[in-house]
Amino acid sequence: MSPPGGAHVIVGASTAGATAAATLRQEGVDAPVVLLGAEPHPPYERPPLSTGYLQGKTSLEQLWLRPAGFWQEHGIDLRTGVAATRVDALGQVVELADGTREPYERLLIATGGRNRRPPIPGFELEGVCDLRHVADADAIRRRAEPGARAVVVGLGFIGCEVTASLRARGLEVTAVEPQPTPLAQVLGEDVGAVVAGLHREHGVQLALGDAVDHFDGDGAIEAVVTRQGHRLACDLAVVGLGLEPATEIIADTDVAVDDGIVVDEHARSSVPGIYAAGDVARHWHPLLGRFVRVEHWQHALKHGAAAARAMAGGGEPFTDVPWFWSDQYDTTIQYAGAPAEWDQLVLRGDVAARQFSGFYLDQGRLQGVVAVNRPRDVRAGMRLIAAGGAVDPRQLADEDVDLGRLARRGGPAG
Ligand SMILES: Cc1cc2nc3c(=O)[nH]c(=O)nc-3n(C[C@H](O)[C@H](O)[C@H](O)COP(=O)(O)OP(=O)(O)OC[C@H]3O[C@@H](n4cnc5c(N)ncnc54)[C@H](O)[C@@H]3O)c2cc1C
Repeated sequence: MSPPGGAHVIVGASTAGATAAATLRQEGVDAPVVLLGAEPHPPYERPPLSTGYLQGKTSLEQLWLRPAGFWQEHGIDLRTGVAATRVDALGQVVELADGTREPYERLLIATGGRNRRPPIPGFELEGVCDLRHVADADAIRRRAEPGARAVVVGLGFIGCEVTASLRARGLEVTAVEPQPTPLAQVLGEDVGAVVAGLHREHGVQLALGDAVDHFDGDGAIEAVVTRQGHRLACDLAVVGLGLEPATEIIADTDVAVDDGIVVDEHARSSVPGIYAAGDVARHWHPLLGRFVRVEHWQHALKHGAAAARAMAGGGEPFTDVPWFWSDQYDTTIQYAGAPAEWDQLVLRGDVAARQFSGFYLDQGRLQGVVAVNRPRDVRAGMRLIAAGGAVDPRQLADEDVDLGRLARRGGPAG
């Protein structure tokens, strides 16, 4: 039996959850919509935390996902600074840290994730930071004085962006990364080497193929000591070692979890009435033919909207090809797809000038595309991936072949 009012409750007031709340209203849902967020702020954009906001160019107010009055105007009961602690799926109730209980008819979990914090000695020292929330960016900014020395640990996308932003603030930066290049796991070493060159050109010292042994200091960070025995003196360390999906509130339910909340192509979990979207969800992707968990801003936006349409009783299967961008210095990297693996990388354009695209193929099928300062190839690549990925590598490499036309035709010329 549905609780009174048939409330739609959303846990996690960020990109996925907030977009879902707005979409429920667009879809004509007139039941109560409750949007619960653990952070003190209204829903905000996270990507500028490692770029414009970290550099001091973007204000806090510029991060808001919607204008301040939006939530009230649309009858969305936004409650910030309050965490959900537990879902009682049998009773259809969400329990909150302040002792209140929120009955639901439909529940969306959009809790994203938390930064991975491996047990590295000295992690607790003052000045060892990581980055996910506004408060984290503020803590980094307080220490990021021009001329200060920073060590960035982990050169994934967030680590690369933080590195570029700290250089823009005039810090000396050393970055430590166990792989042979930045971004090697996502982009491979050929493209990763281009990213390494970009950072070196901007005066970053790279300690590649090395890892942190411990953080050293007396109360506050003084140095990062690596496994190869290097002592990197610093005033600040920023750690970016990936994300763990925040699934603990459904621990007492039968909701299936496997590296995130497992959902179908309509964002439905294994328990009727409970949905999940964004970074926390691992969704079935009908085009890719497997489950994927995607940690990108646009995915959170679109998956949150798709979940809301499903909660409202409609909606098409969610089949978007994952896409994201990363801004580092004057370079924009875009990436689409989600290759589990690839056996061929086809390059197109001028790698030395950092204006090129890379196409990741597995058994002749396009699985992913990266574009460095070359956005149009990504759009064409996405259409080719969505069409099944059959493509002739020679055409991908040939600058005289119009990829847009190739994509519109849905594959290689016969
Ligand atoms: C520094 C940084 C830079 C990024 N840059 C890019 C980029 O350039 N391009 C790109 O595509 N993507 C980028 N991303 C990734 C992108 O921001 C995320 O994919 C997106 O924010 C995911 O949205 P979400 O709503 O699923 O989860 P989140 O944004 O993680 O939000 C989850 C929310 O749920 C709240 N919450 C968690 N548990 C509870 C609870 N129990 N009760 C109540 N609330 C709870 C959290 O406090 C949080 O506000 C970046 C991320 C970070 C951290």
